[in-house]
This record gives sequence, C-alpha cells and structure tokens, in this order.
Amino acid sequence: MTYAAGRHFLQIPGPTNVPDVVLRAMSAATIDHRGPEFQELASGLLRDIKPVFGTTNPVVIYPATGTGAWEAALTNTLSPGDTVLSFETGHFATLWQEMARGLGLHVDFVPGDWRRGADPGMVAEKLAADTAHRIKAVCVVHNETSTGVTSRVPEIRAAIDSADHPALLLVDTISSLGSIDYRHDDWGVDVTVAGSQKGLMLPPGMSFNAISDKALDAAKTAALPKVFWDWGPMLAANERGFFPYTPSTNLMYGLREALRLLYDEGLENVFARHARHAAATRAAVRGWGLEVLCQDEREHSGALTAVLMPEGVDADKVRAIILDRFDMSLGAGLGKLAGKIFRIGHLGAFNDLTLAGTLAGVQMGLTLAGAPADPRGLQDALEHLQND
Ligand code: PLP
Repeated sequence: MTYAAGRHFLQIPGPTNVPDVVLRAMSAATIDHRGPEFQELASGLLRDIKPVFGTTNPVVIYPATGTGAWEAALTNTLSPGDTVLSFETGHFATLWQEMARGLGLHVDFVPGDWRRGADPGMVAEKLAADTAHRIKAVCVVHNETSTGVTSRVPEIRAAIDSADHPALLLVDTISSLGSIDYRHDDWGVDVTVAGSQKGLMLPPGMSFNAISDKALDAAKTAALPKVFWDWGPMLAANERGFFPYTPSTNLMYGLREALRLLYDEGLENVFARHARHAAATRAAVRGWGLEVLCQDEREHSGALTAVLMPEGVDADKVRAIILDRFDMSLGAGLGKLAGKIFRIGHLGAFNDLTLAGTLAGVQMGLTLAGAPADPRGLQDALEHLQND
C-alpha cells in the first residue's frame, strides 16, 4: 500500500472508528488475569457495562466475536429439537437461524424481503397458533446491519405477552448497542447479544450476553452441548471478578474507556446523535434521487443507511471508486443484496463533520461511477445538520 495522507474514512457499519483515547488505553501492559489489579478491572466493568444494556442483571463478556455470543445465547437456553421462531430480516438473521439449525434446533424462519423488520403481528399469530408451546425462543436481530432496518423489539415483546406464550426473547444488538435506544430489562428481553466493534467503539474480538432471570432459569435445564460458552462457570468466576479462561485484558482496558465516553456524553444524547445523523443521511440519499432500502418509516436505523442503486449501476463499483479516489470504506451489499446496495455506517465515534465528509465522498463517488447523484443531496444533508 502506498502512503495516503490524512485519516482513512472507515464508514462501514462496523468495525467502527476507535477513538484515540480508547486506542491509548489498550496500549497499556497486559496484566496477570488472576491478580488483584485484574480483579478490580473486571469487577468494575461487569458492573459498569450494565447501563448500556439497560439491565441490572448479569452481563457476561466473551473473548470472542459476536458470532460466539449468538451461539452462547442459543446453547445456554435451549435443548436439541426445540423450535425457535425467527424472521428473515436480512443476512445476519439468516446466519443466526443457520447456526440454530446447525446446533440441532428446529427453526420456523418467516420469509422476508430484507426491507422491513420482524413483524410483531406475525409473532402474535405464530405464538397463538403454537398451543403446544413447541416454540421455545423468538430470535430477533434488533438492527439488521445488512439492511439498515431496526426491528421494533417492544412491540415484539408485547406480541409475545398478548399470546400469553412462555417463549424466551433473544435479541441480537450487535450493531445497535450504544447507538440506538435499547432496554434489556424494560423491554423484557431474555438474552441480549452484543459485540465490541460497533457502537462500543472498540476493535472486534469481544462479545456479550445480558441475561434475564427467566433465561438463567432456562439455563438450568438447557441441554444443548456447550463448554466454552457455558454461563455457569463464567458467572461463578465473574462473581469474584475473574474469568474461567484468559480474558481479552487489553480490550477490557478499551471498554473501560469507551464506557466512560458513552456515559460522559449520556446515553440519551448518544442515541439522539445517531438518529440525527441517520436523518441527515436519508435527506442526502433522497436529494441524490436515490432510494433508502428500509421501507418503513418506523424502522429506519440510526446506525447505518443502506442505499439502493438504480438498475444498471453496480454498487460495488461505486464503493471501489470511493475507496480508490477518496480513501473511504463503505459497507458492501451482503448475501442477496450483493452489488445492489452499499451501506453508509454513521455509528460510533462520529460527528457532524465526519458525516459531511462521508456524504461528500459518496456524492463524488456516485458521480464518478455514472450513477445519479443530484448535488442537492449533500446540500440537503448539510442544511439538516445546520438547522436541526
Ligand atoms: N449480528 C449482526 C447484526 C452483525 O452485524 C454481525 C457482524 O457484523 C454479527 C451478528 C456477527 O458478528 P461477528 O462478525 O462479530 O462475529
């Protein structure tokens, strides 16, 4: 690679830009993970991580990516042959249900068009029809990173309650936690799955399960095999401020700093900042004369925006031009959206001028790729930022 002056714009929807103070915190020397200094670090983090999830219940921290935390959520709560209900909201919902099948679960996978979230009405209908209570869990991806669509978790919880059904609610917040309003306790979620590399502004490699009392109960009888993911030894070690195996100590230094940043800004302000940047991005997309992939006004993601290319324009070519000319990475279309969309990540350590730079790069790249891009797009976004 030749030297490129200035900062690379990492505007994929995660991993996100890691703030300098977080990078510096992680450069401290690794310490003995069985010593008193570590015990203080871990005890503090296991306590201080809870408000981001909106919970007072335990949150476990895995030295693994989000995929591992998916597996932990399933294996700790379910048994071979159990049925889970899930929704084809996009690439990640598809992968999670494939994992569930691979683990020996039956999956009722409700088809979708990747342009809207999980349908609470369908949850109510499916659960009402399940009088034998075969469905043991409802799995929902809160923010579909592949589409920029956010499912309405409180309405899904209400649908489960209205059917008076005992299914657990397992929610993937890998690309929403710390970016989009989320409340594990208030929304009655049983397991929340999260990862380090998006709203938490950390590198990849650490993931989380927040666990309700009902999920802890389910874990007592869940028979799917698990060893590394087993909550039992993890929670027992965590009680004393330790881990059952070697934790990612340096990522934990970073987490301590990242939580300080989030709480200094205030979670409500963090969510409002993301929502405002998302609205300005949509203004740009519409101003360019292009279409936002998400089709339901209630479900626009605060973390990323997926932009649909008109017929004949290859989204990957647009991204390649933008990377080559302006040193900016944008998210690719995944799965069946490959080549049809690109994704603008506007989450994590991100401000008005980062958005202005990002959208300027996208507008120029679209024009160079021969795609429609009315310059009104950037102007509309800037007006949004200036006035709202
Ligand atoms: N779920 C969602 C919503 C994601 O965005 C991702 C990754 O981007 C994953 C799951 C998988 O996480 P990981 O790649 O950290 O294993």
